[in-house]
Amino acid sequence: MNTLSHGLSWIDLGFLGRSNVIAAVIVQGPGGVAIVDPGPTTCLATLEEALQAHGIRWNDVRHILLTHIHLDHAGAAGTIVREHPHISVLVHERGAKHMIDPSRLLDSATRVYGDQMDRLWGEFAAVPEANIVLLSGGETIQAGGRAFAVAYTPGHAAHHVSYFDPSSGVALVGDVAGVCTSHGYVLPPTPPPDIDLDVWHESVDRILAWSPSTLFLTHFGPVTRVRPHLAELLDNLTQVANVVRESLPGPASDDEKSEQFADWLRQQLRRRMTDAEVDTYVVAAGFKYLWYGLARYWRTRA
Ligand SMILES: [Zn+2]
Repeated sequence: MNTLSHGLSWIDLGFLGRSNVIAAVIVQGPGGVAIVDPGPTTCLATLEEALQAHGIRWNDVRHILLTHIHLDHAGAAGTIVREHPHISVLVHERGAKHMIDPSRLLDSATRVYGDQMDRLWGEFAAVPEANIVLLSGGETIQAGGRAFAVAYTPGHAAHHVSYFDPSSGVALVGDVAGVCTSHGYVLPPTPPPDIDLDVWHESVDRILAWSPSTLFLTHFGPVTRVRPHLAELLDNLTQVANVVRESLPGPASDDEKSEQFADWLRQQLRRRMTDAEVDTYVVAAGFKYLWYGLARYWRTRA
């Protein structure tokens, strides 16, 4: 485990045997342990090993805090709760119904990932309604022996929240502050169906209003250059959104446009980093789907 601050640590979940793709945060304090975004079930063994290695038993874990319900963040929650039914799962009210009954979420994920669902994500079990704690943003919650402020931070997902620990200055921001590995490019993850540029800007303002000293990104890790990071995120969001918008009228099929966009993005990254680092971004952000999220945004507005 890597320490962010006293009682606040993170681990690399080793997604698909790779490092720097998906991280989970562990919060430890007198009130017990909380896990922020436990990751997919395919990484659950790694999460369990890390907990064990640090003397944490599942009995100590009281809360799972979800930033949002995408499979790479929330996939293991139901499996964990089935084995350890004393654990509560905190999730935004717009995402809760899909944790209680994931069938629609899994149908749409299956349309995207097809026969790769099991290999990538593994089981996505339902969370019993009794274990769910609804968040709307604006509240303060107690977890892992401390108080977290909760903000509603849509843009990447309509049910996305972020958590701020004023005692350490760390903001746990899921995907809304982008994907950034190796201090490289700040990539806005834009999969369908919820991408919304205006509310994404508002979410960044909400995070900045906390004046955090550190952002913790699920993909990947702590960022201490908070303002330049978020400024680059919004600049890049504007750029990629414009590239997608300009591609819309062309004669190619959506699949071809999506491929062309992914190629363009890979070229942007290759200027700044090694091919291995580019591959990490491709796995973390799912390049094939980024065009579709922005295309849907523009088409819905038009
Ligand atoms: Zn996500």
